[in-house]
Amino acid sequence: MNQLDNLTVAQAHQLLKKREVSSTDLTSAYIERVEKLESHVQALVTRTAEVAMQQAARADERIARGDIQPLTGIPGIIKDVICTKGIRTTCSSKMLENFIPPYNAAVIERLQAAGMVMMGKANMDEFAMGSSNENSAFFPTRNPWDITRVPGGSSGGSAASVAAGEALYSLGSDTGGSIRLPASFCNLVGLKPTYGRVSRYGLVAFASSLDQIGPFARTVTDTALVFSTIAGYDERDSTSVNIEADNFTSCLDGDIRGMKIGVPGEYFVEGMQPGVKKAVEDAINKLEELGAVVDRSVSLPSTPYALAVYYILAPSEASANLARYDGVKYGYVYPDSENMWEVMEKTREFGFGPEVKRRIMLGTYALSAGYYDAYYLKAQKVRTIICREFSGAFEKYDALVTPTAPCIAFKMGEKLDDPLQMYLTDVCTLPVNIAGIPAISIPAGFSEGMPVGLQIMAKPFDEKTLFKIGYAYEQATDWHKHMPALA
Ligand code: GLN
Repeated sequence: MNQLDNLTVAQAHQLLKKREVSSTDLTSAYIERVEKLESHVQALVTRTAEVAMQQAARADERIARGDIQPLTGIPGIIKDVICTKGIRTTCSSKMLENFIPPYNAAVIERLQAAGMVMMGKANMDEFAMGSSNENSAFFPTRNPWDITRVPGGSSGGSAASVAAGEALYSLGSDTGGSIRLPASFCNLVGLKPTYGRVSRYGLVAFASSLDQIGPFARTVTDTALVFSTIAGYDERDSTSVNIEADNFTSCLDGDIRGMKIGVPGEYFVEGMQPGVKKAVEDAINKLEELGAVVDRSVSLPSTPYALAVYYILAPSEASANLARYDGVKYGYVYPDSENMWEVMEKTREFGFGPEVKRRIMLGTYALSAGYYDAYYLKAQKVRTIICREFSGAFEKYDALVTPTAPCIAFKMGEKLDDPLQMYLTDVCTLPVNIAGIPAISIPAGFSEGMPVGLQIMAKPFDEKTLFKIGYAYEQATDWHKHMPALA
């Protein structure tokens, strides 16, 4: 094993700062790993080794001048739903297979200013719709812990690549769980920030009232470092909130004595795997041992409705957002059409995969005259109730903890023919997006040899509390140090 393998961001930063290694050496080592591991993991849609080497050279010049930030010169990977100027951004869809954005997303501008090294664009479920990465129009990504299993979705490539050690961190997007679920399936830390915290400028829209970009990394500290770099106000995103960004690493002191933590019973759903339940309960006991005041009798009674609300709202927003792919403006165009209508119909027929079409149909139906009140409007009302329940809980508790998912990573193909089973994977993560609150998934043990995640939720703009609790737990356990045999 190379001494540069499986470093954390914080460790790599120290090596670069002390000039014990150059970004060029670090990047070359990771490019080699990508070449070695990609045939097993298939996490990347586009590899950008050349760009990475140029960025590494620039980072080395910066470091030589003494100008180094926490991510300067460190290899990272970007989900292929985030626009990168001059580099193909596909959303793992045939529709955007050859789309080269003329501009960078806000998060890319921020990462570049911090001296990022981009290793590639990560595979995903098409337009971020899915929980297993099997909805990619190109190929499925595999879980590095067991390549016969899924890495979770929709940010599966972002998770699998970091778990396999192809990069030290990555970015994903989370509309209903797409960062936290793959983090839990791949033994990583994954953060869904508060809605409005990270700019969505340049993020290809799925469901605009739910989408947020967030980081994956191997430790809480690394996650806080990436988050500190990408968070902040951006006037180009009208939902970006102008609130001062804290220093997200100053809260990492390991002391959670006296913190009030609630455990909502509704998240321990029927059919939850016993091994997952056991790991999560053990993790909660550990938080109590560390001095947190744990209340296991919390109830958030509208939780069971979150799934239905999400599968009305997200497809409704998607049906509107995806109307732009019409074969006229950009993206795939069906070649041999007789007239304008045929161009649009055939482009959408052949450009979109089955899950995307299912969502567009569901959303169009829910928004149509005569059904709007019964579906979309009703779902919005229930959304308000879910938000109120969370606000009430956060008056009493600093944080809520739950399982991230009811199961471990499942076998490839296992849920592919049953969309409802696939949707049910997200029962524990969806309410967070509906309420716009922040949540993190952290490694919390294993069941049948596969990773289990603990989800921590906090009130809006209180990511600090997530990091504080996550860090204390991480210091007291060594789950995050376990590596898949492949890495
Ligand atoms: N799995 C959920 C869905 O398919 C969530 C996806 C996401 O967060 N992007 O919609």
